[in-house]
Amino acid sequence: MPAWTLAVVPVAIGFLWLLFRTKQSHKKQQSTLSSEYFKGLNYLLNDEQGKALDVFVKLVESNWDTIDTHFTLGKIYRKNGEMDKAIKIHQGLIARPSLPEHYRSKILLELGYDYLGAGWFDRAEGLFKEVLIQDEKSKEARHNLILIYQQEKDWFKAIDIAVDLFSENQAVVGPMIAHYYCELADISRTKGDISQLENHARKALHYDASCVRATILLADQMKDSGEDRKAIKIYEDIEKQDAESMILVIDSLLGCYENLSSQDKLYEYLVALQDRHENLFLQNVIASVLERSEGKQSAIDYLSDKIKHQPSLAGLQKLVSYKARGIDADEVFDDLIAAISVMQKDSMGYRCQKCGFNTNTHYWLCPSCNHWGSVKPSVIESEQ
Ligand SMILES: [Zn+2]
Repeated sequence: MPAWTLAVVPVAIGFLWLLFRTKQSHKKQQSTLSSEYFKGLNYLLNDEQGKALDVFVKLVESNWDTIDTHFTLGKIYRKNGEMDKAIKIHQGLIARPSLPEHYRSKILLELGYDYLGAGWFDRAEGLFKEVLIQDEKSKEARHNLILIYQQEKDWFKAIDIAVDLFSENQAVVGPMIAHYYCELADISRTKGDISQLENHARKALHYDASCVRATILLADQMKDSGEDRKAIKIYEDIEKQDAESMILVIDSLLGCYENLSSQDKLYEYLVALQDRHENLFLQNVIASVLERSEGKQSAIDYLSDKIKHQPSLAGLQKLVSYKARGIDADEVFDDLIAAISVMQKDSMGYRCQKCGFNTNTHYWLCPSCNHWGSVKPSVIESEQ
């Protein structure tokens, strides 16, 4: 069966439904419409799409209520990747002098989708902008413009459009705008423009007070300029925004405390943090801190006690690695450590809270569902 017939079946079903509807509402016109519909349908089935389109264009001119036929046909072509045909349909409609004004935005939107599908972002952008001129409240046009600017990494333009949607849906749009500002802050960081970095990061927090990424940008900046005390304060604030994200900054935080040589304070802080959030699995970090400040035996005692109450592969691995040193069964222990290490690799990582996408790399924009800020360090089920 040729591929086009697959496309024609749903079109045919759509037409029959439209016919039925037409029959219900316009009994007088029904017989002419029906015969014209069947004529067009027949052309379609014979793969004579040009002729079919001519029939449908005439139909729509005599009765604009039949415009749904065009939209259905356009969508099917688009779905099948036949953008040229979809574009032809929608351009044909726009060119009709008798086109009622209220259909204009809808057709422009459809044409915009055709261009998006064909990868012609510039043209799609132009059309969605035109829709906004006709109907400044069109969320669909705004949403698509945002997607285009996001794709093109034109963060300023994305912000411009998204800001207008902010008041209506702060919970969804706020985090998006925040991430656009974080992208800008990131660029400023690369350029070494610290004041702009801070400026953008603060704007991000203005639109989304719980934007962890913005806080990390500000804290990293403090750390890089040697302001360890201030950096610690900012890193530790992340707990209020999203406790699980503390894992993302734990190494940087350790670095700051080390620069200040305040291992005791670090130990106290980590123990308190672990008590507040058991799912953070900080035992190994705490054990390493203890090892450096009080020696290996303290680390072993701490871990042995913790493993009993909250067993984890990572904790077990570290404990074995401590105990394995200096005893005869070194080789056995090494194998054991290696095995646990492999098991642990399987269970460590990041998970998208929106779509469940699992990854070993941390992303701010989920590569699977395109959601900002939803990929988080995942709690490892098998460890509990
Ligand atoms: Zn996702």
